[in-house]
Order: sequence, then structure tokens, then C-alpha cells
Amino acid sequence: MKHSIYFKYIVGYMIFAILIILGINFIIEPLVYNYHKDELGQSIYKEAYSLSQRYGKYKYDVSNEGTSYMDELSTIAFSSDSTIWIIDDTGRIACTSENYFITLYIEDIGEYFKDSYYVLGDFNGLLSSPYISSAAPIINNFKTYGYVIVNKNASYADISTTNTMNYIYIISTVILVLSLCVILIFAFTTYIPIKKITTATREYSKGNFDYDGLKIKSHNEIGVLASNVNFMANEIKSIDDKQKKFIANCSHDFRSPLTSIKGYLEAMLDGTIPPEMYDKYLNIVLSEAERLNSLTSSLLTLNTWNNSGQALDIIDFDIISVVRDTILSFEGQCSKKKITMDVTYGAKSYAVNADQIKIQQVLYNLIDNAIKFSHSNSTIYVSVLDKNEKIFISIKDNGIGISKDSINKIWDRFYKSDISRGKDKTGSGLGLSIVKEVITSHNENINVISTEGVGSEFIFTLQKSKKNSLPIISS
Ligand code: ADP
Repeated sequence: MKHSIYFKYIVGYMIFAILIILGINFIIEPLVYNYHKDELGQSIYKEAYSLSQRYGKYKYDVSNEGTSYMDELSTIAFSSDSTIWIIDDTGRIACTSENYFITLYIEDIGEYFKDSYYVLGDFNGLLSSPYISSAAPIINNFKTYGYVIVNKNASYADISTTNTMNYIYIISTVILVLSLCVILIFAFTTYIPIKKITTATREYSKGNFDYDGLKIKSHNEIGVLASNVNFMANEIKSIDDKQKKFIANCSHDFRSPLTSIKGYLEAMLDGTIPPEMYDKYLNIVLSEAERLNSLTSSLLTLNTWNNSGQALDIIDFDIISVVRDTILSFEGQCSKKKITMDVTYGAKSYAVNADQIKIQQVLYNLIDNAIKFSHSNSTIYVSVLDKNEKIFISIKDNGIGISKDSINKIWDRFYKSDISRGKDKTGSGLGLSIVKEVITSHNENINVISTEGVGSEFIFTLQKSKKNSLPIISS
């Protein structure tokens, strides 16, 4: 949990919430207070200014007639909930809105208002609590007769600030609740699926490919990731299964010739096989050893070749010469089984672009199978034809054919159908795997058409060379 994304988001959210609370208290609240204080100062100044205009117009004699205006001031002050003073040019408070006469002086009035049109304070104790005060001069004929000072309790600014702050707190609470919802939605739509994927990959990495806890229904990027991980696990599982099967087959195919070699040698040593029979059994031992040898080289071949084509030595060569040479190498076997080769070439030569040695191996394996699984006195048809920018090579026999059950398995390593085990005791079941490897590594196709008891046809394609003609290599 400590380092999880969810934990980080929660910590991030808490930091965000704390910053919002601190920002509201230490930045926004003072700004709001200053705004309301300025607003109050402005309205007080406007009031003071309008009164000063009124008294200046009537050439008000502040010092002598101040008290006669007390009632009027009281009414104005009452309606605006303020305290109004009129001071004369000496600084004496000549008249107040509070209906009492005080002989107090405010010396050097200009000092109070030198920085701003309003001040916050209590005029050196003249006022009982902090007030916001503003002054406007009473001027007539360019002569200042005195000042109107309007004072309003500073708590008005506090009340307005509290009201505005209440709105801000409500809005901030809504923002914090909404962002918490976003975090929770994130948790359900992102974090939980990611956690499931993490758990699944941990299980798969332990080799538990049967783990089925990774079920995510969504079709977004995480859903796609989950299905890819599932797909990957299934692929690894099938590779794992194939590997186990491969090792089982491999050890079985190695064990049977070794068992017979061991058996014959022991029988010779303990005298069960008399010396006059040695020749016969040593030949069997030799053929079993050769089988082991060919099995090992087939396995090595399969191991070194891969689908990337890196191991391929692609050249331009004449496929007809290669087919002809390969068929010739089976002359002995064909005459033993009285098999005829019927060969059709679409032209004298076909230049293809492929790995010559490996294609020769493909032809060898296919013709070898065709002979092995053909009945005596039958015909094998080989054709090389040019169709749709590709060279098609077909090897067709009238042999035992392949059953429907086996047809998809013949390309698997070590696969040998039960019926073929009787016919072909020497095969390893690797020949067609090698054929498939080679053809797919060339990015070409191979297909089989077969009917049990009738025969089989293997057809594969090769890329035509871009050169039109080639020197004939051999024949
Ligand atoms: P091997 O190397 O033992 O010949 P392959 O991989 O070449 O093994 O063949 C696998 C199996 O496919 C054979 O055991 C046989 O059952 C079947 N098969 C291959 N070619 C033919 C064919 N021409 N006719 C009938 N069955 C075939």
C-alpha cells in the first residue's frame, strides 16, 4: 500500500485539501477583508464628501453655528449607523451627531489621512472601539473652514468578510467533495483493475498460469491491457505445455533406441546371443545408433532455425535443378519399392529467391515421406509450376494417406500417427516440423491435402526471383 498509486493519490489529495484550507485562511481571507474595508472606506468618504459640500455651499460657520446642525447630523448618522463630527479649522470638534457637545481637538488632521482617504483606528482613544473614518474638507471660496469626519464601526468590514467567506467555504467544500469523488471513481475504474493486473502478473511469473482472477470487462486501455496480459499468459502456458510435451517425446524417442542398444549389448555380454549371431545384432545396434544420430541432428537443426529468418542464406537459384537433384538421390529407394516418379515442370528453369540448402532439405523430407508412406508399385507425382507471381511445388503420393484426426498434428514435433509407426519405424516425427519451420521462416505457405487410404499431397510456395534467368547450377 505504501508506494501504491492509490496511496500517492490519497496523499496528493490530502496535500491539495490542506493547501486549499491554508490558502483560504492565510491568503483569501485577508484579501476579502481588505476588499470590504476599502469598500467601506469608500462609502464613508462619499458620505463625508457630500456633507462637506452641503456645509460649504451655505458658507457654514463651523465655529459659531455648528451646534445648530446637531439634529440634522443625528438623523443622517442614525440612518447610516455612523458617527459624524464637524471640526473647525483649529481642529476643535465643533459639533457631533451624538447630540452632545465635546470640547476636544484633533490636531493636525492632515497627518491622519496623509496615506489614504480613510483610516482604521480610534483617534487616540476618542472612539470606544476601532472605527473606519474618512474626512472631507468644508471649502468655500478657496478657503477651508473645517472638516466633516464620518466614523463607522470597523466590525461592518468583519461582518461583510464573514458573509463572503461563508460562500467561499461552501464552494471550497463542494470542490473538495467533488475531487474526493474523482479519486474514488479513479480507484474503481483504474486502480482496482491495475491491482488485479499486478496480482495476475505476479501469479503468472510464479508459473501459476491457471490463475483466473484477471477478469476485467471494460473496453478502455486497461481492459485491452488486461486482455493482452491474459492472452500472453495463455500463450506462455501453451508454450510451457508444448515444452513439457516436447521433453517427454524427446526422452521417449531417445530412450527406445538406447534401451534396444543396451538390451542387445547385454545379451551379447551374458552369452544370450551367441557369437555367430553377433553380425546380425551389431547391425541392429548400428542402425539404432544411426537413428539416435539423425534424431540429434534434427533436433539441432530445429533449434538453430527460427521464424525471424536470421539463419537463412537467401540467394537466387534454379528450383528445377534442385528438385531434379533431390529426386535423383532417391533412385535406390524408389527402385527397391518399384515406385515411379512422374515429374512435371512448367518451364526449363524457375529462378526462386530462397535458402537453397534448406529448401533442398524440405524437398528431401517431403519426398522421403511420400516414398515411405507409398505402397509398392505406385507412382509419386512431383510438379513445379508458376502461378500468380509464386512458384508452387507439389509432391503427391497414392499412399496410406492421413486421417482427419492426425492432419492438424503432423506438423508437431515428434508426431507420428499410429498407423505410420508400423510403416515407418525409423522416422523421428521431426521431418514435417523442420519443413514447416523452413517454409514459415521464408514467409511462405505449405498445405496438405490428404485422404486416408487414398494418398496425400503436400504443396508449398516459393518467392520468384526478380532476375529473369539464372545460370544452370547442376543437373
Ligand atoms: P518423420 O520424420 O518420422 O517422417 P514427419 O514429421 O515427417 O516424421 O511426419 C510426421 C507424420 O506425418 C508421419 O509419422 C506420418 O504419420 C504423417 N505423414 C507425413 N507424410 C506423410 C505422407 N506422405 N503420407 C502419409 N502420412 C504422412
